[in-house]
Amino acid sequence: MRITGDGVGPTVQFARGCVSYIIPEFNAQALDSLRQPLETGEVAIARANHRIVYPARFQLVAAMNPCRCGHADEPGYSCRRGPNARCVAQYQARLSGPLLDRFDLTIDVPAVAAADLLQPPPREGSAEIAERVAAARAVQTERYRGLGLEGVASNAAAPANVVEAVAAPDVSALSLLRDAAERMRLSARGYHRVLKLARTLADLDGADAVGRAHLAEALSYRGPQERAAAAA
Ligand SMILES: [Zn+2]
Repeated sequence: MRITGDGVGPTVQFARGCVSYIIPEFNAQALDSLRQPLETGEVAIARANHRIVYPARFQLVAAMNPCRCGHADEPGYSCRRGPNARCVAQYQARLSGPLLDRFDLTIDVPAVAAADLLQPPPREGSAEIAERVAAARAVQTERYRGLGLEGVASNAAAPANVVEAVAAPDVSALSLLRDAAERMRLSARGYHRVLKLARTLADLDGADAVGRAHLAEALSYRGPQERAAAAA
Protein backbone atom coordinates (compact mmCIF):
# COMPACT_ATOMS: atom_id res chain seq x y z
CA MET A 1 0.00 0.00 0.00
CA ARG A 2 1.20 3.49 -0.73
CA ILE A 3 -0.24 6.65 0.76
CA THR A 4 0.63 10.16 -0.31
CA GLY A 5 -1.05 13.49 0.27
CA ASP A 6 -0.52 16.28 -2.25
CA GLY A 7 -2.57 18.89 -0.38
CA VAL A 8 -5.37 18.69 -2.97
CA GLY A 9 -6.52 15.12 -2.46
CA PRO A 10 -4.88 12.00 -1.08
CA THR A 11 -3.70 9.33 -3.48
CA VAL A 12 -3.95 5.91 -1.98
CA GLN A 13 -2.85 2.75 -3.74
CA PHE A 14 -3.68 -0.56 -2.16
CA ALA A 15 -2.50 -4.11 -2.35
CA ARG A 16 -4.49 -6.84 -0.62
CA GLY A 17 -3.24 -8.13 2.73
CA CYS A 18 -0.37 -5.67 2.91
CA VAL A 19 1.18 -4.50 6.15
CA SER A 20 2.10 -0.85 6.28
CA TYR A 21 3.58 1.71 8.62
CA ILE A 22 2.56 5.29 9.23
CA ILE A 23 3.51 8.20 11.42
CA PRO A 24 1.68 11.50 12.03
CA GLU A 25 3.90 13.21 9.43
CA PHE A 26 1.32 12.44 6.71
CA ASN A 27 -1.27 15.14 6.23
CA ALA A 28 -4.57 14.76 8.07
CA GLN A 29 -6.62 14.33 4.87
CA ALA A 30 -4.41 11.49 3.63
CA LEU A 31 -4.60 9.73 7.01
CA ASP A 32 -8.37 10.08 7.24
CA SER A 33 -8.74 8.57 3.75
CA LEU A 34 -7.70 5.28 5.40
CA ARG A 35 -10.91 5.20 7.43
CA GLN A 36 -13.13 3.79 4.69
CA PRO A 37 -10.89 0.86 3.66
CA LEU A 38 -10.09 0.06 7.31
CA GLU A 39 -13.84 -0.23 7.96
CA THR A 40 -15.15 -1.88 4.79
CA GLY A 41 -12.10 -3.57 3.24
CA GLU A 42 -12.76 -1.62 0.03
CA VAL A 43 -11.63 1.66 -1.45
CA ALA A 44 -14.00 3.64 -3.69
CA ILE A 45 -12.66 6.17 -6.16
CA ALA A 46 -15.15 8.58 -7.70
CA ARG A 47 -14.41 10.71 -10.77
CA ALA A 48 -16.89 12.74 -12.89
CA ASN A 49 -19.13 9.91 -14.16
CA HIS A 50 -17.31 6.91 -12.81
CA ARG A 51 -17.12 5.18 -9.47
CA ILE A 52 -14.79 2.23 -9.11
CA VAL A 53 -14.47 0.03 -6.03
CA TYR A 54 -11.25 -1.89 -5.41
CA PRO A 55 -10.73 -4.63 -2.80
CA ALA A 56 -8.48 -3.31 -0.03
CA ARG A 57 -8.55 -5.54 3.04
CA PHE A 58 -5.21 -5.03 4.72
CA GLN A 59 -3.59 -4.95 8.13
CA LEU A 60 -2.34 -1.52 9.14
CA VAL A 61 0.64 -1.32 11.48
CA ALA A 62 1.43 2.25 12.50
CA ALA A 63 4.07 3.77 14.75
CA MET A 64 4.46 7.25 16.23
CA ASN A 65 6.65 9.04 18.74
CA PRO A 66 5.03 10.47 21.90
CA CYS A 67 5.71 14.01 20.65
CA ARG A 68 7.50 15.86 17.85
CA CYS A 69 10.87 15.88 19.68
CA GLY A 70 10.32 12.19 20.46
CA HIS A 71 11.27 12.17 24.15
CA ALA A 72 8.35 13.72 26.11
CA ASP A 73 7.90 10.57 28.21
CA GLU A 74 11.56 10.28 29.27
CA PRO A 75 12.21 11.29 32.91
CA GLY A 76 13.88 14.70 33.18
CA TYR A 77 13.42 15.61 29.50
CA SER A 78 12.03 19.08 28.66
CA CYS A 79 10.44 19.52 25.24
CA ARG A 80 11.99 22.24 23.11
CA ARG A 81 8.73 24.01 22.34
CA GLY A 82 7.00 24.49 25.67
CA PRO A 83 5.59 22.15 28.31
CA ASN A 84 5.83 18.40 27.56
CA ALA A 85 2.06 17.93 27.94
CA ARG A 86 1.36 20.54 25.25
CA CYS A 87 3.99 19.08 22.90
CA VAL A 88 2.38 15.63 23.31
CA ALA A 89 -1.17 16.96 22.85
CA GLN A 90 -0.29 18.92 19.69
CA TYR A 91 1.52 15.99 18.09
CA GLN A 92 -1.05 13.35 18.95
CA ALA A 93 -3.92 15.58 17.76
CA ARG A 94 -2.68 14.98 14.19
CA LEU A 95 -4.44 11.63 14.31
CA SER A 96 -8.22 12.08 14.39
CA GLY A 97 -10.42 10.31 16.97
CA PRO A 98 -12.35 8.41 14.24
CA LEU A 99 -9.06 7.10 12.76
CA LEU A 100 -7.75 6.03 16.20
CA ASP A 101 -11.12 4.34 16.87
CA ARG A 102 -10.29 1.88 14.06
CA PHE A 103 -7.12 0.59 15.71
CA ASP A 104 -7.66 -2.68 17.60
CA LEU A 105 -4.35 -2.68 19.46
CA THR A 106 -2.58 0.38 20.87
CA ILE A 107 0.61 -0.35 22.76
CA ASP A 108 3.13 1.96 24.47
CA VAL A 109 6.67 0.85 23.70
CA PRO A 110 9.21 2.29 26.19
CA ALA A 111 12.80 2.85 25.04
CA VAL A 112 15.05 -0.22 25.33
CA ALA A 113 17.79 0.19 27.95
CA ALA A 114 21.22 -1.44 27.57
CA ALA A 115 20.39 -3.69 30.55
CA ASP A 116 17.32 -5.03 28.66
CA LEU A 117 19.60 -6.30 25.87
CA LEU A 118 21.44 -8.51 28.37
CA GLN A 119 18.25 -10.34 29.38
CA PRO A 120 17.86 -13.95 28.17
CA PRO A 121 15.44 -14.33 25.23
CA PRO A 122 11.77 -14.99 26.11
CA ARG A 123 10.84 -18.64 26.59
CA GLU A 124 8.31 -18.59 23.76
CA GLY A 125 10.12 -17.68 20.53
CA SER A 126 8.73 -16.26 17.25
CA ALA A 127 8.37 -19.73 15.69
CA GLU A 128 6.23 -21.01 18.60
CA ILE A 129 4.09 -17.85 18.55
CA ALA A 130 3.61 -18.18 14.76
CA GLU A 131 2.30 -21.72 15.35
CA ARG A 132 -0.16 -20.49 17.98
CA VAL A 133 -1.35 -17.73 15.62
CA ALA A 134 -1.79 -20.20 12.73
CA ALA A 135 -3.84 -22.50 15.00
CA ALA A 136 -6.08 -19.58 16.09
CA ARG A 137 -6.56 -18.55 12.43
CA ALA A 138 -7.53 -22.12 11.53
CA VAL A 139 -10.13 -22.17 14.34
CA GLN A 140 -11.60 -18.91 13.02
CA THR A 141 -11.72 -20.06 9.39
CA GLU A 142 -13.49 -23.25 10.50
CA ARG A 143 -15.93 -21.28 12.72
CA TYR A 144 -17.15 -19.03 9.91
CA ARG A 145 -17.23 -21.86 7.36
CA GLY A 146 -19.45 -23.73 9.84
CA LEU A 147 -21.78 -20.72 9.97
CA GLY A 148 -21.94 -20.66 6.16
CA LEU A 149 -20.37 -17.19 5.92
CA GLU A 150 -18.71 -16.91 2.53
CA GLY A 151 -15.57 -14.79 2.45
CA VAL A 152 -15.27 -14.46 6.25
CA ALA A 153 -12.13 -16.23 7.51
CA SER A 154 -11.28 -14.26 10.65
CA ASN A 155 -12.92 -12.55 13.64
CA ALA A 156 -11.79 -9.20 12.19
CA ALA A 157 -13.89 -9.72 9.05
CA ALA A 158 -17.05 -10.94 10.82
CA PRO A 159 -20.17 -8.71 10.76
CA ALA A 160 -21.23 -7.08 14.06
CA ASN A 161 -24.30 -9.29 14.72
CA VAL A 162 -22.25 -12.45 14.15
CA VAL A 163 -19.50 -11.19 16.50
CA GLU A 164 -22.08 -10.68 19.27
CA ALA A 165 -23.08 -14.34 18.89
CA VAL A 166 -19.63 -15.96 18.58
CA ALA A 167 -17.94 -13.78 21.22
CA ALA A 168 -20.84 -13.91 23.73
CA PRO A 169 -19.01 -13.25 27.02
CA ASP A 170 -19.98 -14.97 30.30
CA VAL A 171 -21.94 -13.01 32.93
CA SER A 172 -18.88 -11.67 34.76
CA ALA A 173 -17.19 -10.62 31.51
CA LEU A 174 -20.37 -8.99 30.25
CA SER A 175 -20.69 -6.79 33.34
CA LEU A 176 -17.03 -5.75 32.91
CA LEU A 177 -17.68 -4.86 29.26
CA ARG A 178 -20.85 -2.84 30.04
CA ASP A 179 -19.09 -0.92 32.79
CA ALA A 180 -15.99 -0.23 30.67
CA ALA A 181 -18.04 0.79 27.61
CA GLU A 182 -19.68 3.48 29.73
CA ARG A 183 -16.54 4.72 31.49
CA MET A 184 -14.41 4.67 28.31
CA ARG A 185 -17.28 6.06 26.24
CA LEU A 186 -16.74 3.38 23.62
CA SER A 187 -18.38 3.97 20.24
CA ALA A 188 -20.52 1.18 18.77
CA ARG A 189 -17.58 0.42 16.49
CA GLY A 190 -15.20 0.34 19.46
CA TYR A 191 -17.54 -1.99 21.37
CA HIS A 192 -17.59 -4.53 18.53
CA ARG A 193 -13.85 -4.22 17.97
CA VAL A 194 -13.25 -5.04 21.66
CA LEU A 195 -15.52 -8.09 21.32
CA LYS A 196 -13.67 -9.30 18.20
CA LEU A 197 -10.31 -8.87 19.89
CA ALA A 198 -11.50 -10.69 23.04
CA ARG A 199 -12.72 -13.56 20.80
CA THR A 200 -9.27 -13.69 19.16
CA LEU A 201 -7.50 -13.69 22.56
CA ALA A 202 -9.74 -16.60 23.63
CA ASP A 203 -8.88 -18.41 20.35
CA LEU A 204 -5.15 -17.91 21.04
CA ASP A 205 -5.77 -19.44 24.49
CA GLY A 206 -7.63 -22.37 22.94
CA ALA A 207 -10.70 -21.37 25.00
CA ASP A 208 -14.27 -22.03 23.82
CA ALA A 209 -15.79 -19.13 25.78
CA VAL A 210 -14.72 -15.51 26.07
CA GLY A 211 -13.87 -14.90 29.73
CA ARG A 212 -13.33 -11.82 31.87
CA ALA A 213 -9.51 -11.97 31.44
CA HIS A 214 -9.85 -11.94 27.62
CA LEU A 215 -12.15 -8.91 27.74
CA ALA A 216 -9.99 -7.06 30.27
CA GLU A 217 -6.94 -7.59 28.03
CA ALA A 218 -8.84 -6.48 24.90
CA LEU A 219 -9.98 -3.30 26.71
CA SER A 220 -6.40 -2.53 27.79
CA TYR A 221 -5.41 -2.17 24.12
CA ARG A 222 -7.88 0.66 23.38
CA GLY A 223 -6.45 4.09 22.48
CA PRO A 224 -4.95 6.61 24.91
CA GLN A 225 -8.07 8.83 24.95
CA GLU A 226 -10.33 5.97 26.02
CA ARG A 227 -7.83 4.70 28.59
CA ALA A 228 -7.55 8.25 30.01
CA ALA A 229 -11.37 8.49 30.25
CA ALA A 230 -11.47 5.18 32.15
CA ALA A 231 -8.78 6.36 34.58
CA ALA A 232 -10.52 9.71 35.27
ZN1 LIG B 1 8.19 17.18 22.65
